[in-house]
Amino acid sequence: MIAIIGSGITGLTSAWLLSKYYPVTLYEKHSEIGMAAFGANHQINGNVFEFDIPFRTIKRDYYPTLFQIYDKAGIQTRPVDYSFRVESGGDPVFGFRSYSMFGANFGMPTFDSFRNEKGIKIFYDLLRFYANSKTDWSKENAPLSIRQFLEKNKYSSEFINEFLLPTFALVNTCKTETVGGYPAETIIGYHSRGYAYTPQETARFGTRDIVNRLVGDIRNIELGAKIKSIVSRKGKPVIQFESGEKEFEHVILTTQANQAYHLLGDDFAKEKEALSYFKYEPSDVILHEDSSFFEKRDVSLVFRVNEKFDKPEVTLDLGRIVPELKGRNLFQTWNPHSIPPKDKILKTAQFERPIVDEKTIFGIQGLADLHKMESRRLWLCGSYSLFGIPLLEAGAKSAMNVAEIIAGKSGSELI
Ligand SMILES: Cc1cc2nc3c(=O)[nH]c(=O)nc-3n(C[C@H](O)[C@H](O)[C@H](O)COP(=O)(O)OP(=O)(O)OC[C@H]3O[C@@H](n4cnc5c(N)ncnc54)[C@H](O)[C@@H]3O)c2cc1C
Repeated sequence: MIAIIGSGITGLTSAWLLSKYYPVTLYEKHSEIGMAAFGANHQINGNVFEFDIPFRTIKRDYYPTLFQIYDKAGIQTRPVDYSFRVESGGDPVFGFRSYSMFGANFGMPTFDSFRNEKGIKIFYDLLRFYANSKTDWSKENAPLSIRQFLEKNKYSSEFINEFLLPTFALVNTCKTETVGGYPAETIIGYHSRGYAYTPQETARFGTRDIVNRLVGDIRNIELGAKIKSIVSRKGKPVIQFESGEKEFEHVILTTQANQAYHLLGDDFAKEKEALSYFKYEPSDVILHEDSSFFEKRDVSLVFRVNEKFDKPEVTLDLGRIVPELKGRNLFQTWNPHSIPPKDKILKTAQFERPIVDEKTIFGIQGLADLHKMESRRLWLCGSYSLFGIPLLEAGAKSAMNVAEIIAGKSGSELI
């Protein structure tokens, strides 16, 4: 019997892969599957519409494992118009539009970008970054943060502080300063694949469809689980609940690292040491109807950089992004600089995101070493646990890595 704790993408992927071969019980602390736990239901044209919170996108070139799983599980995706504008100190500085024509996808800066000096500098440096950053990085022989790398290679302050770091702070919903400390290769690896353009996609039928298809065959799902701790007894992991305890052959712990740390008892000192390297930052999301967040609705996202705030504010125009909501005043704002009036707020949610710094690698290496040990029975995975950006792909891939070891099968056999 295998216990999987947590039902974000990592827990769902683990359960979907392993339940074909083993009896699996999935535990989630929320009263709803975790990946969909923050969604909001509202009446649109007399029908209930389920909003994804957060609204997540994926790209085929960065999410190979996730797309393999989605394809096999029958989860369809669709391209998303992720045109954006960056505003700094209230002025538009750079914009980008994505197009799809005759099956080809491409992107181009908006005309506005060339009407100001900042926009021209940003565009010039963006071309340089796409063309050169991989090669420039390969010549480095010491670790550098992305800010150090950009400054060393003489990128303009506008590109660094008003474009690359703030837009990346969206990808990770964290502080701009924190992104500056990311190891350069994580961001170069995500952003720079030459000029190849891959569109953003999202699950065609929303997170609900992902969840339904991945939990489809799993009979044992315990929502609202009240787990106190995980201990080891005679080499086997034991979950201690508020009422009683249960021993398992394997426990796969897919909560965030900081939550996993607090669940593990003292028997797991090495695991706790590895987990202590992962750091988190909070992020806020508001689903609302306040159109003052998006006055010029000619793109799908607006980033606002303002030196008074440590994080950029990002608003998604759901009336452009989601076909069923076309033209409606419905927005999702991440890390808001101001709060919409109460009567315009449909839902607020708080998340914690793992961030990456120069020490994260010690945690990742520590977990990888533990997972190689003989007779391993406690597994720690999640979007935080692999090198790169903590996104859905890292969650799915880390789950796949663990499932391969437990089942003794390759990923393609498991899928
Ligand atoms: C605003 C925002 C926007 C994002 N946008 C994107 C995007 O566009 N693309 C992308 O790829 N990623 C995006 N992400 C990141 C992505 O959502 C995460 O990487 C992913 O959800 C992590 O999945 P996970 O399964 O590793 O962890 P989680 O989703 O955190 O799942 C862990 C689960 O464990 C459960 N749990 C915790 N403690 C217990 C306990 N004691 N007992 C039982 N269950 C427990 C939690 O409730 C949760 O369901 C975004 C994140 C945020 C916050």
